[in-house]
Amino acid sequence: MKTEQATLWVRMNGAGHAFGRELGCDCGRCQTVNYNIAPPPNRLAEFAGWPDPPNRANTSASLLIGNREGNVAAHILVDVGAGVPDSLAGALIPGLDHVTGVFLTHWHGDHAWGLSQLGEGLRRTAHRREQPFFKIPLYCTLPTYHALRDRIGLAYVLERCYRFQEIVPELPIELPAGQTVIRLTAISVKHGAADGAVIYVAEALKKKVVLAWDIETPDAAFPSGYTNAEVFRRHATLLQNADLHLQECNSWAIAGRGHCTYQAARAYFEVVQAKRTLLVHLSGHEDGPGNPGYGWTDAQWQAAAKPDGIEVAQQGMVLRV
Ligand SMILES: [Zn+2]
Ligand SMILES: [Zn+2]
Ligand SMILES: [Zn+2]
Repeated sequence: MKTEQATLWVRMNGAGHAFGRELGCDCGRCQTVNYNIAPPPNRLAEFAGWPDPPNRANTSASLLIGNREGNVAAHILVDVGAGVPDSLAGALIPGLDHVTGVFLTHWHGDHAWGLSQLGEGLRRTAHRREQPFFKIPLYCTLPTYHALRDRIGLAYVLERCYRFQEIVPELPIELPAGQTVIRLTAISVKHGAADGAVIYVAEALKKKVVLAWDIETPDAAFPSGYTNAEVFRRHATLLQNADLHLQECNSWAIAGRGHCTYQAARAYFEVVQAKRTLLVHLSGHEDGPGNPGYGWTDAQWQAAAKPDGIEVAQQGMVLRV
């Protein structure tokens, strides 16, 4: 039997914006539901995912190190919004329940609402298996942790199920991943009023993934006047020549509060220069009725981005980096 080299994989657990489908909204994106959900391959293998799935999970990705036997040797879960635990359970990839670490970009609910279901679910599973439950390492900045605990009411589950590990922006964290290590470096970005928001650069097996959500437009500035464009320029060496760039793109041309548009994201694409770029956190609501972007389905976003060689992340997509 041919033995495979260890490989870095990314699974898109969700690519939805903060509010998924907004009940009562008559826009095309909220009204389009694809009920043709083909099952994934039941192992760690490439998969295209599903456009406009019935349950849109919030934006989240799993970074997986596949070992030589094709099993998951490490699972780094970046953000756990609504729908993400169900998405993981439906991935049909054995071993996803061994979470090496959860990394959060920021405290907004659409990136953290699933922490309770994930933590309690793993805890209950361990109990039924009559195995000890080990608290899940939760990596985030201190302002993010405080907001999870004090602003969005997760104190109970944080205490029961998670072990806080402080992220300090620009100080890389290296975690063992089978025979190799995976390194994550956080970079502080401006995202509305979300104190402590970061994006991540993940590096493993000579591959690089940039996870750039949620992030405001390049001209958005911290109170000091330091802009997101300057953040990208200053970290260009770390960011550039990525193998995969996941970029938040909440709307086409008209920015919502705290978020980026496709047009403005071009400045980020230029710095990262990734081999492959995928859009996440798509909404289009901010563009407004009648304007490009408003009501666009995944296929319409895909058609609009294709001339630039940019793709739309699909929920359930599994990529070999
Ligand atoms: Zn968000
Ligand atoms: Zn809508
Ligand atoms: Zn946010």
